Amino acid sequence: MTDPAASPHIEIPSRAPSATPTDDIVTPFEVATLDLRGRVVRLGAAVDRILNAHAYPQPVAKLLGEAVVLTVMLGSALKIDGRFILQTQTDGPVRMLVVDFTAPGKVRACARFYKDRVAAAIADGKADAGALLGKGHLAMTIDQGPDMSRYQGLVGLDGGSLEDAAHEYFHRSEQIPTRVRLAVAEEFRAGQRGASHRWRAGGILLQFLPKAPERARVADLDPGDAPEGTTPHVVVEDEAWVEGRALVSTVEDVELIDPELSSERLIYRLFHEPGVRVFRGSELRAECSCSRENVEAMLKSFSQDDRDHMVENGKISVTCEFCSANYVFAPEDVGAEAD
Ligand SMILES: [Zn+2]
Repeated sequence: MTDPAASPHIEIPSRAPSATPTDDIVTPFEVATLDLRGRVVRLGAAVDRILNAHAYPQPVAKLLGEAVVLTVMLGSALKIDGRFILQTQTDGPVRMLVVDFTAPGKVRACARFYKDRVAAAIADGKADAGALLGKGHLAMTIDQGPDMSRYQGLVGLDGGSLEDAAHEYFHRSEQIPTRVRLAVAEEFRAGQRGASHRWRAGGILLQFLPKAPERARVADLDPGDAPEGTTPHVVVEDEAWVEGRALVSTVEDVELIDPELSSERLIYRLFHEPGVRVFRGSELRAECSCSRENVEAMLKSFSQDDRDHMVENGKISVTCEFCSANYVFAPEDVGAEAD
């Protein structure tokens, strides 16, 4: 995969930080003095719409929200036409997450999980991301259409969070020192018609991209099972990266989702000392690509037997797994026969 933050945005002038918070936007930035590039993702209505389309248990919704932030963070940086798909497949209570980003800014997402195992995890107080996912892998696919080859990057999931997986991916596959933070929360508000809630999500990605590649060495996250007596290979990390990483580690979850704090203010708060340029953001929205025509074409591609078996109470009903839109067909519309 090409480095998501490597493409410079030099054609866009930097500007003063906006005081107006804006949701559903990805804001790139650059800290030239430290060779750092990054982006801040802020999701309001988009993530609320995606998560409210499903009636997932709260920890599953939160986990899917994190996957949405990560996908948007990576997908929006790829200068491609087409889709960027992030998908987990694991042995935990949440067996699959799929987030589908279509350039330049459409996103949809869904999860598959075992209801009883998720309920048990919640009851046991073990419903954090790592416990819900379990072990397996995370795949990132770039799909630029039927005539283009698909690119896939893979990273193992081993009981850790999506942030851990992202760090591992950039460390092993891209050799780019990278820090990712993801945050998702429900905001509760008292209103005239009772309390309401809405989902908010945010994240920050920081990457160290020095011109001299030898400066990008990072210490291994874990020394592993080196035999006793082996001298560990000590890597001295570049001071610029140590500083950047330390700054990102100070970000509180609430800062990533605070509706009163703009992405630009957050970036300035973190990096005003070394100096930072903030670039124009790109907008995002929750939108599914399903349609009655697509569903009809899919049904017609099924075997006669399969179509006939889908008829229930004299009709065929199909619900989109991404957006929960429901499409109902008379059997004869799609060449099926009722029993
Ligand atoms: Zn849909």
